Amino acid sequence: MRAQPKASHYINGSFVEDTQGEPLEVIYPATAESIARLHLATPNIVELAVEAAREAQASWARLKPTERGRVLRRAAEILRDRNEELARLETLDTGKAIQETRVADPASAADALEFFGCAVAAHHGDHIELGGPFGYTRREPLGVCVGVGAWNYPIQIAAWKAAPALAAGNAMVFKPSENTPLSALALAEIFTKAGLPDGLFNVVQGAGEVGAALASHPGVAKISLTGSVATGKKVLALAGEHMKAATMELGGKSPLIVFDDADVENAVGGAMLGNFYSSGQICSNGTRVFVQKEIYDRFLGRLTERTRAIRLGDPLDPETHLGPLVSAAQRDRVLSYIETGKAEGARLHLGGSAPRLQGFENGFFVEPTIFTDVQDHMRIAREEIFGPVMCVFSFETEEEAIKRANDTEFGLAAGVFTRDLARAHRVIAQLEAGTCWINSYNLTPVELPFGGMKSSGIGRENALAALDHYSQIKSVYVETGDVSSPY
Ligand code: NDP
Repeated sequence: MRAQPKASHYINGSFVEDTQGEPLEVIYPATAESIARLHLATPNIVELAVEAAREAQASWARLKPTERGRVLRRAAEILRDRNEELARLETLDTGKAIQETRVADPASAADALEFFGCAVAAHHGDHIELGGPFGYTRREPLGVCVGVGAWNYPIQIAAWKAAPALAAGNAMVFKPSENTPLSALALAEIFTKAGLPDGLFNVVQGAGEVGAALASHPGVAKISLTGSVATGKKVLALAGEHMKAATMELGGKSPLIVFDDADVENAVGGAMLGNFYSSGQICSNGTRVFVQKEIYDRFLGRLTERTRAIRLGDPLDPETHLGPLVSAAQRDRVLSYIETGKAEGARLHLGGSAPRLQGFENGFFVEPTIFTDVQDHMRIAREEIFGPVMCVFSFETEEEAIKRANDTEFGLAAGVFTRDLARAHRVIAQLEAGTCWINSYNLTPVELPFGGMKSSGIGRENALAALDHYSQIKSVYVETGDVSSPY
């Protein structure tokens, strides 16, 4: 199986290679076989990309927003036309089941391009009356923005950053995770086909050093990172040192609270989606499931039955629910957390091992795993595992659930299942999380802002909020009379 792109990088509207860069083997996580060989960016490639973006940005920013939007909407159409091919590429790159990538990856990228392609025309400054004189504000682009992606939703992350950035008149240099370098290149080619002028969306491959070189480059105005809290702290420090704008979409350990009046089937479905989708590699996952004592046994019973029915296997088989984790390193990290959970005294209720599947003996699979009897202080209850590992807790009162839910450094997401609407809104208002669901979990429509509080992030992606984060305000005072001066 091969998925070799024409070259490693995409700069100024063309594929570019530089074999001086360290080789990067792209691995299909289901079999551990190499599907492509790329090269990491050298300092020269980084310079070329930033330079191309700088050259292209000014004239793009002068276009009418509707004209910029039209290009993005064309790109959205191409993505939708090529959904099957792109879903397959994403499955090869990430290992995620094609059942998911067909509906969640290029489709979400297309939604972002379509939304910002339309919304930008209505994103404008204000007119402010000053009693004779008046003022107005202009929404101006920042310049060259850098996007750095994680490996769980590669094309979605690239588009969630590129769409608002480009719509607002910026140029972008994007660095995918070195685990999943392929689909951002496909997106770059699609932009060119859609009529995006050369240089506005560039892709450079690399590990953390390349991300850091971009984040500290004097030609760059903003950095938007999707990654872990540890990386976020480093990148934010770099942005601070060089006084750049920053958006941080980081990790989480989100609570999902199930009250005793909830529809149990829906709550179980929400908890499974919020723990096992994408083999658990989702930042907003509700990995701490708090279930009210009265329905705990019923909830756990149905959860166990339905989790047993999850099909692990060939990611390209449309019947497969769960593919492997993205890499051997991530599988080992998840397995080591499972061992830690057992050693800490939590009860391994289901799963917990790395199955050797026929035909996929070398794949990085981990079974959907459920821990019970977990204490709030245990590492598996406090740290982000980023794999298919759910911790189920029992609670008695609303106050207790809220207190325990908020007892974390993270604040990305939270969910509540209850039929009592007053309680739902009352509880959500007290949860320290940027993205919340009532009677659902992990749906992220582009129309709603997405992002975290506390250590989980700064800034928001999606919705009109993202356009604010990719533009800056210029205030203009206009005198309509004489200048009053004491001199
Ligand atoms: P990492 O933080 O390890 O990496 C994220 C990206 O940052 C990668 O492209 C990485 O490069 C790059 N990077 C690493 N070090 C630096 C540095 N010093 N300067 C600049 N860039 C750097 O995260 P993962 O890729 O492992 O992704 C998993 C994490 O992402 C989880 O914590 C998850 O919660 C979070 N995440 C958050 C989301 C959100 O929207 N809030 C969504 C998805 C994931 P490379 O890895 O190639 O070396």
